[in-house]
Amino acid sequence: MLRFKVCIIALVLFLMPTLLCNTVDLSTVPITAAKAAAAQGEVKVYKGDTKATDSKNRRAEVIAVRWSVQTDADTDLKKVRVVLDTTVAPKVKTSMVSSPVPRLVVDIDGIVPGNIVREYKLDGAVAESAVIAVISGKSTRVTIDLPELLDSNDYRVFTLPVDVVNKKTYRVVIDISEKMPMMKFNFTPGIKGKTLVIDPGHGGSDSGAVGLNGTMEKTVTLATANKLQELLEKAGAKVLMTRTIDRDVFGPNASAVEELKARTVVANNVKADLFISIHADAFTNRQVGGTSTHYYPKTPYDAMFAKCVQEFLVSDLGLNDRGAKASNFYVIRRTYMPAILVEMAFISNPEEEKLLNTEAFTTKVAQGIYNGVDKFFVQASVSRIGGGK
Ligand SMILES: [Zn+2]
Repeated sequence: MLRFKVCIIALVLFLMPTLLCNTVDLSTVPITAAKAAAAQGEVKVYKGDTKATDSKNRRAEVIAVRWSVQTDADTDLKKVRVVLDTTVAPKVKTSMVSSPVPRLVVDIDGIVPGNIVREYKLDGAVAESAVIAVISGKSTRVTIDLPELLDSNDYRVFTLPVDVVNKKTYRVVIDISEKMPMMKFNFTPGIKGKTLVIDPGHGGSDSGAVGLNGTMEKTVTLATANKLQELLEKAGAKVLMTRTIDRDVFGPNASAVEELKARTVVANNVKADLFISIHADAFTNRQVGGTSTHYYPKTPYDAMFAKCVQEFLVSDLGLNDRGAKASNFYVIRRTYMPAILVEMAFISNPEEEKLLNTEAFTTKVAQGIYNGVDKFFVQASVSRIGGGK
């Protein structure tokens, strides 16, 4: 895989929620909790605390709060969005606290709560409640109680400028995402009866990295994947391929998110035991070479799986051992089950490009991954983490 290209994709995916958020028309947010809650007589309304003003003598206040439940376009997960309108440009500080209950705390510096409702009952599943208070007589603190601690992937706090066209003031936006469903794992030894998804990297309109001699990543990933499929099926596994021919998985020229999401959906829908994405690496320095196996530590088994596979790949292929590494690639992050992304060798390295074109090499890669899968099921079945026996 072209490392920097993937990095850019990863970065785009990381920023995507922000980009999407910026384009959401907040006037369409359907519920104002203040009104709904006030109608139910659940909330207390306070007057503004101080007469704080900014340099232009505007009162620096939070003048409205609303919240809604939305579906994240990137992940399909539910998210709670809380929006606070402010009269001046806000500066925010965010922290996650664990005690006395899990909480997201957002401080809006130098802006006090105006004449707004201070307590909100949120959806109850993703986020429980929001309380707005004044701190040090000059700033606003939003405290959101949560059912559990979140990691930094699960929430996002950002500010928006005045939008003259749509007649919107400055805003602080707090997005809290539903956690990915956690599968229960109870691994047993043996490949027979297991469901595995193999994802040959790239395909169709996306060639992936291309070597000096024109070898395309999408071709060698598919060749290896086909061999791995055969080995696993012979051993009695049910194998699903995200693609079996040279094609895009979502559709030609889809966005990066659509394309990658289509690959994870295959695995998530069938609740596969394992997900294996196959790639070839690339770098501007053509001397760089070697094999690496990437995982995202979202279950107790991702690292174990990657280490098992990397160990066999290194001993079977004999290339530079670049390690089993924690990485933030979409397909390994957004699959619910243990998942790896294998970088077989560097297609940008002329020696390794030659290897990638040989039957012998792709057969060895397939065999190495197969052996790693087999070892993983044994190791996971004796471990007591995450529901193992
Ligand atoms: Zn790739």
